[in-house]
Amino acid sequence: MTTYHLITLFPESVEPYVSSSILKRAQEKGIIAIKYYNPRDFVELKKNPSYSDRRVDNRPYGGGPGMVIEALPIIRAIESAVGKKVKGSKVKIVFFSPAGKQFTNEIAETFKKYTDIVFVCGRYEGIDARVKKAFPMIDISVGPYVLTGGELPAMIMIDTITRRIPGVLGDHASVEENRIASPDVYTRPEVIEYKGKKYRVPKVLLSGHHAKMDEWRTAVRADGGRGKRKEK
Ligand code: SAM
Repeated sequence: MTTYHLITLFPESVEPYVSSSILKRAQEKGIIAIKYYNPRDFVELKKNPSYSDRRVDNRPYGGGPGMVIEALPIIRAIESAVGKKVKGSKVKIVFFSPAGKQFTNEIAETFKKYTDIVFVCGRYEGIDARVKKAFPMIDISVGPYVLTGGELPAMIMIDTITRRIPGVLGDHASVEENRIASPDVYTRPEVIEYKGKKYRVPKVLLSGHHAKMDEWRTAVRADGGRGKRKEK
């Protein structure tokens, strides 16, 4: 079983996605499990704590806008998630950053071997970088853009890794890289009509000629799915 440990201030932003469809079934089958750790629960509280005592963000050293999440609540959350196992080779900790290593299918494949994957989801200006000194971890980016938080990147990684674990998708061939898959797909009916115009399924897909269909799929993929359509 693969257990994903999410360290996040906003678990409610992740729960609906991972509780539906294939990820839901993977949990029901016991192939994956998802656990949440809110850094606010790892703040050392004074005797009569008020809500503000549970704050985890603070002003950045060196100035600048925004707030930075403190290191210790995150370190304690990681400790709580995998502290006893962290030295084993089956644990991987991911620190999300737009400047990290670009996440790809190839990286997802290497993650299949871990039993415990921790996702450290940043918010605001990010997390105090000293958490990366306390535990070995990899910096991952899901793309060359800046998101509001690490929750979407965590969902992207959970989804991409999980669909590659045997038993999750019905058929091994369902994983796109194990076959020639096309970004353009068609289903019944063969002809649709919209605003007086007819739209047909490409003839090659009705031919039953598998080599030709694969050739067509390869060409559409190479063309970025544009085919004969005009760019708008
Ligand atoms: N100040 C940070 C910087 O300049 O790199 C960006 C902070 S961003 C607003 C807040 C958090 O969202 C980051 O700490 C990270 O966890 C996550 N994040 C944003 N964009 C991301 C991306 N492209 N890939 C992975 N994580 C991202």
